[in-house]
Amino acid sequence: MDNCIFCKINRGEINSKKYYEDEDFFIISDINPKARLHYLMIPKHHYALIGEQTEKDVEILGKMLNKLSKLAHELGLQDGYRVIINQGENGGQEVPHLHVHVLGGEKL
Ligand code: AMP
Ligand code: ZN
Repeated sequence: MDNCIFCKINRGEINSKKYYEDEDFFIISDINPKARLHYLMIPKHHYALIGEQTEKDVEILGKMLNKLSKLAHELGLQDGYRVIINQGENGGQEVPHLHVHVLGGEKL
């Protein structure tokens, strides 16, 4: 998607440190952190809502959560974290490209 901020980060058109990247998704820090550590896990395929997922998207979201558990120590999240996916207007979703908020680094 041409104007999507997360697609632009994926393409390298906007600079952002990637803490992890593979063929399916990447992890960056949220620009406006709501906790001491606030990451965004972003699938490379552009879609907005869980209800729009292809079978492959379902599989990738599962893999993302599993990978997070394996990266937790490296990301400073070894004592636990909170995972949030905002969906649509009432969910407070501002960027219409599905992403997983990961908050931690302190007791929430
Ligand atoms: P949401 O409200 O769930 O759509 O979350 C969008 C998140 O993206 C917000 O927490 C923003 O702070 C974050 N955000 C917006 N632009 C950037 C950016 N360029 N780099 C990192 N995070 C961003
Ligand atoms: Zn996008």
